[in-house]
Amino acid sequence: MAEILATNPSPVEATYRSTSESPADERDAEIGRVSWQNALKRSIRSGIELCQRLDINPSLFCSSAEQDFPVFAPLEYVRRMQLGDSNDPLFRQVMATQEETIGASGLADAVGDLAAQKTPGLLQKYDRRVLMIATGACAVHCRYCFRRHYPYGSAPVSKKGWLNSLSWISQDDSIDEIILSGGDPLTLADESLSWLISEIVKIRHIRRIRIHTRVPVVIPQRICVSMLEWVSNCKLPLFFVLHFNHATELDSPTRKSLELLRKSGASLLNQAVLLQGVNDSFEAQRDLCLALVDQQVLPYYLHQLDLVQGALHFEVSDDKARQILAGLQSHLPGYAVPKLVREQPGRRSKTPLGFA
Ligand SMILES: *Cc1c(COP(=O)(O)O)cnc(C)c1O
Ligand code: SF4
Repeated sequence: MAEILATNPSPVEATYRSTSESPADERDAEIGRVSWQNALKRSIRSGIELCQRLDINPSLFCSSAEQDFPVFAPLEYVRRMQLGDSNDPLFRQVMATQEETIGASGLADAVGDLAAQKTPGLLQKYDRRVLMIATGACAVHCRYCFRRHYPYGSAPVSKKGWLNSLSWISQDDSIDEIILSGGDPLTLADESLSWLISEIVKIRHIRRIRIHTRVPVVIPQRICVSMLEWVSNCKLPLFFVLHFNHATELDSPTRKSLELLRKSGASLLNQAVLLQGVNDSFEAQRDLCLALVDQQVLPYYLHQLDLVQGALHFEVSDDKARQILAGLQSHLPGYAVPKLVREQPGRRSKTPLGFA
């Protein structure tokens, strides 16, 4: 399959095989240009491996946290991390730490997903829109993820299961939007996604399709020719809600991918999570919002952390969150300021936190 995300238009194989001298060259060379499927396969799968790549002492981190939620990070993402910096904001998002095992007072289902399930893998909490867990797989394991405890084993991962969800949806004409989520729907093959979209379009009361994904953040070459084909052919307005948390996640291949996606007619939004030690400052949020709008991605939500077990060390106080937001509000154009929200079980929408 043709890859269209080279920052360098020359054949990459040559670079890939060449012997390079400096460690930085070596890191770039081994990234090479591989298909997104191969990018997934060659991802880093343990904390020790991740530390070794980044020249970080793994004994700082030795942890049992990996047992129920293994470390998983594509090289395309890891290359954006600073060598030797255990406080790197990207590293902190994916590295398993001892902190995850301390104070296990968080909830396994903090956002009430299980109560909102209509049929296996289909959640409805709000009017007009339903959320389909199209797959349990992700292209990166984010340590703060509220779905880390979701029983994905029961989510439909086949056409038969999806048809069951779609048939449920087709019987409720108050629903006009389907959100494909997960896990991450862009870990599915384009053939499956293109089929799923065509089945959704058949439901007459569906007016919009939304895709919640972090794959383009971590594996930018996921935005490939065969994906752009179903995106540009989609007969309904298609919204991608991306998930960037930090400005350094927008490297050059990623920016290029966003441009391709936008030019194929999709609307691009972003939701970020406010995370202690990752992006909990005015400067970090300002830089993120500006980096996003520079790519014509509108900041949509800034989420307060869901208090799930194993993620509590990422929590930022509401006061601090409001101060950061007030800073953004007084400094940026209105369209560059996300809504600061928290998800509270039983509410009819995400709950806004308002201003300081
Ligand atoms: C967050 C969420 C949505 C989307 O809400 P919007 O405010 O429309 O972005 C839809 N369904 C579920 C179950 C959700 O958790
Ligand atoms: S990609 Fe999304 S669903 Fe998957 S682990 Fe990260 S935050 Fe959670």
